[in-house]
This record gives sequence, structure tokens and C-alpha cells, in this order.
Amino acid sequence: MMKVIPIVSGRTAAAHFAGGPLVDTRARGMHDLRISVTDRCNFRCVYCMPRETFGADHPFLPYSAILSFEEITRLARIFVGLGVQKIRLTGGEPLVRRQLHRLVAMLAELGVEITLTTNGSLLAKQARLLKQAGLHRVTVSLDSLDDATFRAMNDADFPVARVLEAIDVAAAEGLTPVKINMVVKRGVNDDDIVRMAEHWRGTGHILRYIEYMDVGSSNGWRMDDVIPSAEVVRRISARWPLEPVDANYTGEVAERWRYVDGAGEIGVISSVTQAFCATCTRMRLSTEGSLFTCLFAESGHDLKALLRGGASDDGIRNEIAAVWQRRADRYSEIRTEQTAKLRKVEMSYIGG
Ligand code: SAM
Repeated sequence: MMKVIPIVSGRTAAAHFAGGPLVDTRARGMHDLRISVTDRCNFRCVYCMPRETFGADHPFLPYSAILSFEEITRLARIFVGLGVQKIRLTGGEPLVRRQLHRLVAMLAELGVEITLTTNGSLLAKQARLLKQAGLHRVTVSLDSLDDATFRAMNDADFPVARVLEAIDVAAAEGLTPVKINMVVKRGVNDDDIVRMAEHWRGTGHILRYIEYMDVGSSNGWRMDDVIPSAEVVRRISARWPLEPVDANYTGEVAERWRYVDGAGEIGVISSVTQAFCATCTRMRLSTEGSLFTCLFAESGHDLKALLRGGASDDGIRNEIAAVWQRRADRYSEIRTEQTAKLRKVEMSYIGG
């Protein structure tokens, strides 16, 4: 049985967490930690970091404000002690953070699965070092195979060919299975749904279609722009029949489908049309050390102040446990066109 003894810590009512299963107010465990290692990105994807908001004068975080590799590793160790089994490095673009392989090597010592989500632009050069440091797998974002569409969506004039090359290099280095994330936006890249399926079928890589979400406050999201996953599955099935596959584990984000002809599987991530809040076991650590218990949160919990204020590991552990025990988030279950307008924190800051 878990014991919770409220103590007043000054900033929040912290608790003494005495072990046992750590669950939130909806009985969800804490298994996955996403760490944003930088709020910077070399792409300006129109649905994530639109140039109008993230222009040349955007105030990105100064180096002194962001967590060091040592600080990240210390927190990660505490999270693992509380039950985290999987760590995903993300951003911003994680590979723009210098020497990221050093962080991977430090985290690899914790003995949990380490993965990375990247736009692939800097991956070919770093794949070997990352693998040697202990990275298990990569997820590469790729929204289109059409060069003009892809360049328009990343708004950095970055060619498709270089991302395809990076995927090959990552696979050759054993960062497998490579997952490929495609955000689908109606009228922008939905022509690519079937083309992407055709390209990745039979490669062993897993293509995942993501419903366009109202993350942050700057992408001008409208429900009309969302292509429901059910439609994605229908369009692909009309060409190559698909059948559902059981989830690998409870709380898996992507719903799995496999080609009846044996050419592998795809995933669909339906945060908008089939919310999966009920099984969400994720938390996010922002670049500057704030803890967010939901991708759509408006504010986080400052762990950097604890780290830099001399708190003990036990003190930090109790604070994290208390945050999780109070967690009641279920944004995707209550999303409307109105909630979409709330001032939510940007995805590049808390980590995608
Ligand atoms: N820079 C890395 C990348 O491109 O993969 C990691 C960060 S990015 C924020 C993580 C993932 O979030 C990417 O696959 C991206 O396509 C996805 N994403 C960003 N904005 C989104 C949105 N509005 N709706 C759905 N997915 C989004």
C-alpha cells in the first residue's frame, strides 16, 4: 500500500512517497518520459513551429536556462526509480543539441529503453555515435514523399531525399525498427497517404499516420483540417486490405494494423477522433526542467528550481510523485473548437 503524508513544501503541497504502485487520480501508472533537450529546431513545420511565431527574433531559451546533461540524467534516474520504463528524447529537434550522444550514453546506464524522435536532417551523420552510445530506436518524421510538398511543410526548403537517406543509415546502424511519423493535414498532404503506404510496405519500417492536433497556440488548428484515422485506414485498405493487430502493451499510442498480404504493419495515432487519455502513461520534461503531465497543458511544475536549489533526490522524488498523484488530465476527451483556442504550451518546448 502506498502511504501519502502531506507536507507543506513552500511551493506546493508535496507528499512523502513511500513506494508501491504510483498512480494518478484516474488509476494511470507513470511509464514513459519524454525529454525535450532543446526548444530549437532547424525546420519550421507549418503545423508545429510556424515561421510567423517562431521567426528570427523568437526568444529561444538561453543556454543557462536549459537543463545540463547531468541534470537531465539525475532527474531521469529519479523517474526510473518511480516506474518509468521508456525514455524518448525529443524537442525541438534533439539532434541540434551538441554532443547528444553523450546524454544517450549517460541515460543508457539506467537500463531502460531509450528512443529518439527526429526530423532526420542531422541523423545520417550521428546515427553510428548514437547507436554506440546505447540508443535503441529512432522515429523519423516525414510528412510527404513529394519534394515540393515536403519542402513546403518543413518550411526550411529541406529535401525529401536527405531524410530517406538518413532512414537508410539509421536502419543500417541497427536503430530498428525505424518508425516513420506522418502528420496528415487535409488538403496539404493527404494525397500522400497511399503513396507513403506503398513506399514503406515491405521495408520492415513502421509508418504511423498522426492526426493533425491542436498543440500549442500558434498553428491555427481547425477540426476541418483533420483527416480521421478511420479514413486513413479506409483509403489504404481499399488498395491493400488491412486487419487490426493487438497492442504491444496497454497504453500504446498507435493503433496497429497489418497488411493482409504480409507486407508489414502501419500505425494510426488518433488523438483527436479516438482520444486515448484513459490509458496515457506519459509525462514530459521541458527543455528548462518543467514537468508537464499532458501534451495540451497550460503550465508545468518547475523541477529545475528544486535541482538548482539544492533539493535532495528524495525531495525531488516526492515532488514528482505528488504531481503524478494529483494528475487528472484528459484534454483530448474534452477537446472542442473552443478548447483549441486555449493558451497551451508549445510542443517544441515540452517535447513532441
Ligand atoms: N523535431 C523532431 C521531429 O521532427 O520529429 C521532434 C519533435 S516533433 C515536435 C515530434 C513529433 O510531433 C513529430 O513527428 C511531429 O510531426 C509531431 N507534431 C508536431 N506538431 C504536430 C501537430 N500539430 N499535430 C500532430 N503531430 C505533430
